[in-house]
Amino acid sequence: SLFVRFNSVVMLCAYPPAALHLGQALRTRQLVIDYDRGRAIPRLREPLDLFAIPSPSSPFQGIRWPIECEVIKETMHHIEWDPPEPEPFYQPTGHERTPMPVGEEKGNVVYYIDPATKTPYFTYSRMGGCRGPISKSTAGGPHQEQSNLAFESRFESGNLQKAVQVGVHDYELTLRTDMYTNKHTQWFYFRVRNMKVGVTYRFTIVNMMKASSLYCLGMKPLLYSERAAWEKGEGWRRIGSNIRYYRNQHHHAEQDSATKKSLHSLTWTCQFPYDSDTCFLAHCYPYTYSHLQRHLSRLTSDPATSAYCKLRVLCRSLAGNTVHVLTVTSPEGGWAERSARKAVVVTARVHPGETNGSWMMQGFLDFLLGESDDARLLRETFVFKVVPMLNPDGVVVGNYRCSLAGRDLNRNYKTLLRDSFPCVWHTRNMVKRLMAERDVVLYCDFHGHSRKNNVFMYGCANSDDPTQRLRERIFPLMMSKNAADKFSFRSCKFRVQKSKEGTGRIVMWRLGIRNSYTMESTFGGSTLGNRKGTHFTMRDLKSLGYYFCDTLLDYCDPDPTKTSHCLAELGAMLRQQVRERLGRETDSDGLVSVSISDIESSTSGSNSTESDGLPVHLLNPTQAKKKHLRSRKDRNKLREKRVRGVAGKGKSCQLLLCVDSISVYH
Ligand SMILES: [Zn+2]
Repeated sequence: SLFVRFNSVVMLCAYPPAALHLGQALRTRQLVIDYDRGRAIPRLREPLDLFAIPSPSSPFQGIRWPIECEVIKETMHHIEWDPPEPEPFYQPTGHERTPMPVGEEKGNVVYYIDPATKTPYFTYSRMGGCRGPISKSTAGGPHQEQSNLAFESRFESGNLQKAVQVGVHDYELTLRTDMYTNKHTQWFYFRVRNMKVGVTYRFTIVNMMKASSLYCLGMKPLLYSERAAWEKGEGWRRIGSNIRYYRNQHHHAEQDSATKKSLHSLTWTCQFPYDSDTCFLAHCYPYTYSHLQRHLSRLTSDPATSAYCKLRVLCRSLAGNTVHVLTVTSPEGGWAERSARKAVVVTARVHPGETNGSWMMQGFLDFLLGESDDARLLRETFVFKVVPMLNPDGVVVGNYRCSLAGRDLNRNYKTLLRDSFPCVWHTRNMVKRLMAERDVVLYCDFHGHSRKNNVFMYGCANSDDPTQRLRERIFPLMMSKNAADKFSFRSCKFRVQKSKEGTGRIVMWRLGIRNSYTMESTFGGSTLGNRKGTHFTMRDLKSLGYYFCDTLLDYCDPDPTKTSHCLAELGAMLRQQVRERLGRETDSDGLVSVSISDIESSTSGSNSTESDGLPVHLLNPTQAKKKHLRSRKDRNKLREKRVRGVAGKGKSCQLLLCVDSISVYH
């Protein structure tokens, strides 16, 4: 877009200034027109806070935040490291406590930032977020002790809303919901300082929204110590004892309905390795937009890799952050050969809290742009279109699920609202153009999964065409053979559900891509083979990107042996399932009469979100404001009702009644 801007500068200079009221004609506020003896001299407005000037060493712009977001100056950096041994799942002792929320009245607020709904919808963005000095995030006051932990999350992908000290070493934490919504908590990432070594601290996150979690299946939180990184070269590791995930007494009120859902708590205890260290706690290995930019910058500045990959701007997000698209293919071969290459589309991070998707993506790109014979063969066989981060805004602000439209982008692939959902609109458009040009063999969108272990895929059954029967299952079955201790074919599902019509997977399949998948990696670990009962590391996640490439070569092997073996195996598997579940025998061709969906469990199994409509900023503004304009009488009535509802739950709840604008609790 900078190119366009310079172009328009040139164009403007070509017109005599008198013929054009430049100030009025300009549709951008980024250009300023100076006049020198009647000549218009356009220049970029200062300070240049919209786009950094690209340079060969860094073709990337600074990061844009919604203007209300406060961002601290320091940038967070973590080393990449893998533990020498696989880290085992947590084994419950049966004595884990389930502390109920205490609240701010009985506790001591040590950290508090503006809620996600401070402004009702996204308005403007700015590089570096909110202008002006950063506010003090802690309440201070007489209770403030030197021995308190110091929390911070106002950095990329951070999302701690509030920390309340409820015991000497006991902290109750509230996560910031996705921006302009009051839901979707699950991801967490924040900094802790001022700790004492040898002390056991308890952390309890009290506003988790999912009814179940991998924390019930042995998953542990992650800890990063800057001093351990500095002194021993160690990075993120699994920590924690007394881990429990359970329903608490708080409820989450839906914005527009009377239905209330229970909130859940995640509690754990842990010690820190050093006194007065800087540590981080997270749900999964963070992978920020800056991290992606550094990675892309390495790929495009290294002559060894830049020969096969072109980096382009797919579009800008709502906040104006760049959504990158990479084209990877070998420049060798004649025109006819190159134009006959089939295409593969790979995307990731439509859901910003699913950082595991980005690690798989990094592994995929590193392998694909590497020097191995397999990588070269892949580049000579295919044209890869890769969108490594579909939702940079969500990643920047620390969302779990949504874009700054306050909506799940992966329910909006059918959208006509290009300006509200630019990232998915342009992705679909890019795929359409690609399909007009060449065959697209496979589309895959990388995700994280918060309730099941292992890695698996969701696909779409091609049941309309008998010649294609079961073929959509070949690639996932091959994956499970190549990554036997990580990838579970049993967890794969091949369904076209009504509720998922707006997902990338189903929209691309309806466009005509038969092999259309999401690849879901657990946040936890494996239950398979040698790796049974251990967490995935960064290296494990990256290896999935490699296995994906490996499987592509198997899938497209001109020798059909592997494919026909897989088809035979799939047929046998299905016949057995029919026997077990429906009590029916089938001959080898009898499957046609059985709807495959009948024998797959009907639970969606995935991280479902209902499609929740128009972007928040397009909702009827009077509707959006309604809850702020309640009459005093209504407010009193509501209060009475709430007090009745919480009677007996202790005084601490009442304080929260006043916080009408974040009426998450009552
Ligand atoms: Zn997802």
